[in-house]
Amino acid sequence: MITLHKVNKWYGQYHALKSVSAEVAPGSVVVVCGPSGSGKSTLIRTINRLEPIGDGQILVNGDDVHAAKGREINRIRSHIGFVFQQFNLFPHLSVLDNVAIAPVRILGLSWHEARERARALLTRVGLAQRIDRYPHHLSGGQQQRVAIARALAMKPPVMLFDEPTSALDPEMVGEVLQVMQSLAAEGMTMICVTHEMGFAREVASEVWFMDHGEIIETGSPAEFFSAPRSERARKFLAEIR
Ligand code: ATP
Ligand code: MG
Repeated sequence: MITLHKVNKWYGQYHALKSVSAEVAPGSVVVVCGPSGSGKSTLIRTINRLEPIGDGQILVNGDDVHAAKGREINRIRSHIGFVFQQFNLFPHLSVLDNVAIAPVRILGLSWHEARERARALLTRVGLAQRIDRYPHHLSGGQQQRVAIARALAMKPPVMLFDEPTSALDPEMVGEVLQVMQSLAAEGMTMICVTHEMGFAREVASEVWFMDHGEIIETGSPAEFFSAPRSERARKFLAEIR
């Protein structure tokens, strides 16, 4: 479903991804962890082409993400949901319309159809009572759940999360992780950059540990947490515990 083949990425002289190869099977949940600056955000941002790559290839459902041109790029992007640390909701749109707007603009749904879809998704993330509010009326955890519903409104087969809970007050982390966990249980293919190791243990099919622009270790959460193979992973785990 997602294949990275010898992906290299440079920021100027800085080699941010060093020949990264990896695969994500349909329905699996990958948690990406590693020290600050190791390339986690860069990696997932290249998967929906928020960042260009130097060379290599990234396939998502058979589409060569970085070879696409023109309108093809938007089509491919619309199949990959992305949730950011900062929710980036549209402040001037209601919660309902934040979720409805992309299906209207990009898929050509009528506002009526798109709002029906949005209502169902907002119900699913526990926000049925908040659809007429504006983003600034919501807590951080609620805003992040709107952002997840907004990404889901495009019915993407793949969802990418870049530290979706790190901007939240601690008491709101759980409600967002719960939504992510339910998505995983429904079989969504997900790549999640997160420091929430409890989530990784319970939900991940696989953990990728990155350091200095490389995925230096992959394994099941049970393997990774109980018997990390590399010294760098052992050190990382000791520091976050
Ligand atoms: P964090 O845990 O702090 O979010 P990360 O693992 O997500 O870190 P990246 O943001 O992918 O790390 O950054 C990887 C490296 O690339 C870092 O050394 C960073 O300074 C560098 N980098 C990231 N974005 C840019 C950019 N736009 N221009 C230049 N260098 C960048
Ligand atoms: Mg990052």
